[in-house]
Parts: sequence; C-alpha cells; structure tokens
Amino acid sequence: MRKILTISLALMLCVGCFGFVACGENGNEVQLSEPTEAPATAAPTSVPTEEPCAHVWTEANYQTPKICEVCGETEGNPLTPWFEEKGYSVNSMVVGETYPYVTACYDDKSKETIGKVTVTEYKVFESDETHEAKEGYEWRFVSVTLVFDDENTKYYGASYNAWAGCYYIGNKEKAPDPEEIKAKGEGYFAQDYNGKEYECWRRTGWDSSWDKKNVLTAHYEYEALLPIGYDGAIFLFVNSGRIESGAALADVIDENTLFFRLV
Ligand SMILES: [Zn+2]
Repeated sequence: MRKILTISLALMLCVGCFGFVACGENGNEVQLSEPTEAPATAAPTSVPTEEPCAHVWTEANYQTPKICEVCGETEGNPLTPWFEEKGYSVNSMVVGETYPYVTACYDDKSKETIGKVTVTEYKVFESDETHEAKEGYEWRFVSVTLVFDDENTKYYGASYNAWAGCYYIGNKEKAPDPEEIKAKGEGYFAQDYNGKEYECWRRTGWDSSWDKKNVLTAHYEYEALLPIGYDGAIFLFVNSGRIESGAALADVIDENTLFFRLV
C-alpha cells in the first residue's frame, strides 16, 4: 500500500513538473521571436465565427468526465474509483501466479493459517455451450485454487471467504430487491457503466477436499455476464476471522486482503 501511495505521489510530482517546464518553454519562444504583423489580406484566424456553446453538461462518471451534450467538450476528469481512493493494491488476472492468503483457522478463529492462492484460469468470451450470448455483454470466468498446507491448518483447519465487488464503487453497490431477483434470476445485479445501467448476472462457487497428508485444497470460481469492456469486477479473499454478521466490505479489509480485478 505504501508503495502505491509513493507511486501516486511520484506521478503527481511528475505531472506538476512537466506542466512547469512546458510553460517555461512557451514563455521563452514568445520572448525570442520578433514581433510580426499579420498581412492585411490574411483572414482572421482567431475571431470566433459562431456563438459560443451554451454548454449542457452531463455528469461525470467513472469512465468519462463531465461532457457537453451539444458540442462534446469535456471538463475535468472521470470520478476516482473507490479502490484507487482507498489506495488498495489490486492484482490483475495473471494465470499461474500464486499469492499468500492470511486467514483464520476453522476450529479456532484466534489462530491463523497462510494459504496459497493461484489463478488457474481466466477468460473473457461472448458465449459457449452453457453461457448464452447477450448483445452488448460479455462473459468473464475465473478459476482459483487455494492450498492450505501449514501446521495450523493440519490441527485447526482453515476458514476462507471471498467477496465480490466493484473497482469503481467499492461496496456502494445497489442491492437488488427480492422481486427483481425473482424476475431476473438468482445472481442478478445492476451495474452502472459509462453512464448506462446494465442488467448483469454473476455466480460464485466453492468446493474443497482434504488429502491424506492433511492438506486442504479448495477451488473458487467466479463468473459474470458484464457489459462489454467493463473492467471493474473485483473479488477478494478476506481474513474470515474479521467477518462479523452485517459487516461492510470496508470493515473486513486489512493489509493482508487479497484483491483481484477481472481485467
Ligand atoms: Zn457545449
């Protein structure tokens, strides 16, 4: 986390620095060039020929800044994603990469175990035999393996937990009402993307088994039907010892939380 903050600060300094140098160069050019007069026959180049646009602004969102509906001019920046605001370090989907996962033991929540989380598959696709195509949407599928083989797991088991969220809005996702879920199917959720609300769908699944050497292996799957190009789907493995009933995402996150962003 500290590393990320340092990088952001460095970027800010660079931008500031660049701006200053550019100004200095422009200033020098103006001072060095001889004053010239435009020939009388030349058409004026800087006189506006049209009325200035009486801008009609649409609100900024996480993908685009505030934009004028009439002339297309933009102002400012897109909104800052929740995860960026918080400074969390988020992993992208690198198949084969393994990450340590600190979580509580199953029989004794005061004890910790360190699992190994490996991304085993990640794909983005339009449709296949079991996933129907939908215009304007695409499927994202990810499979992850968790291995717990330390001493604490052997004696006390492991308790693991995954949450799903959005890189842009974090845990401010609207909970669909039960009637909507009934009508649109289990796993339905609404997702804002580029100023439009999409009807999305997701499923997560687990299975796990012990081998003869008391190693616990679990598989986690996440799949979702999302707007084409939407890169904000997040899942995270949290320390299950931190979860209390009704806890919000921000309350369970700590320095060991493992974040994955489906990009
Ligand atoms: Zn305008």
